[in-house]
Amino acid sequence: KNINSEKEISQHFLQAINAALLNVKHIVDDSEEMIEISANERKGWDSSVNKNVNNIERAVNQLNAHVSLKQRISNELNDIVKAMEHKRDFDQLAHVELSQQFGKMQEKLSIVEAQAQSYKSQLEEQKQLRLQDALTKLPNRAALDQRFAVEFKNAKDYDKPLWVVVADIDHFKRINDSYGHNAGDKTLQVIAGAISKSLRGSEFIARYGGEEFVFLIPLANKRSLLSILTRVRENIKAIPFKFKQESISITISLGATKVRLEDENPEATFERADQALYRAKHNGRDQVVIG
Ligand code: GH3
Ligand code: MG
Ligand code: MG
Repeated sequence: KNINSEKEISQHFLQAINAALLNVKHIVDDSEEMIEISANERKGWDSSVNKNVNNIERAVNQLNAHVSLKQRISNELNDIVKAMEHKRDFDQLAHVELSQQFGKMQEKLSIVEAQAQSYKSQLEEQKQLRLQDALTKLPNRAALDQRFAVEFKNAKDYDKPLWVVVADIDHFKRINDSYGHNAGDKTLQVIAGAISKSLRGSEFIARYGGEEFVFLIPLANKRSLLSILTRVRENIKAIPFKFKQESISITISLGATKVRLEDENPEATFERADQALYRAKHNGRDQVVIG
């Protein structure tokens, strides 16, 4: 629950960051456009004032006025031109400065964006790990719960066949007791791999816990289910395990049942599969019981 709520918080946080980043990006883009527009405006304004000054100068020269008056007007106009040149230089500097600052801001923005992206993929990775059993790399019980909830509903809503199978390694405790916990772990990995290979992609398999596995098998009638499960059982039995120079074969027992319309929840179906497994154990193990 904690991990889930933390995940949710992180996702909201990421969404908020993304929205904020997008906002900032729009503002920066808009501002850049504004800088360009105002630079062009200023240029236009400068040249229009220049034209005015030139016109006045020309008009004064054509005037039949006193030389010293003409000189005075000409001096004033020169001052105006100088002031304008000064202002233009200053504007250009400010423009360059602003552009540089925006460039830096954009660089920083892309760094933050990249960080948010990497955080997002880390979250995705963690989500994957949360649903995977570390030892066998199979989907774990949390993954099974998620998947079973969906498939159970689907099976009931559309009246589609869905078989639930619980498989349990026989006398597994003896492996641990006789050959050590490491040998037990290795055995679990090998058996998990063998089960995976024996089933098809559409057949979901999870490590339910300890030495128990659960399969969800859609679209199979009872006879083809029995042949699938018998094949799995025989494949496991045929694995040539060797511990401390001793060759041994390991067997599994399987209990299976189909989702029924009267099953109120996934647990109801699961309970029936578990009872079938119990009967398989009780009848001498190394067998499939469909209940
Ligand atoms: P049964 O045929 O009735 O199922 O007998 P069992 O010995 O398999 O059943 P039991 O439930 O008595 O023992 C299961 C054992 O599985 C006990 C536990 O030490 C072992 N086990 C569970 N998880 C692991 C694991 O991750 N690694 C190892 N090495 N052993 C595990
Ligand atoms: Mg068990
Ligand atoms: Mg067992």
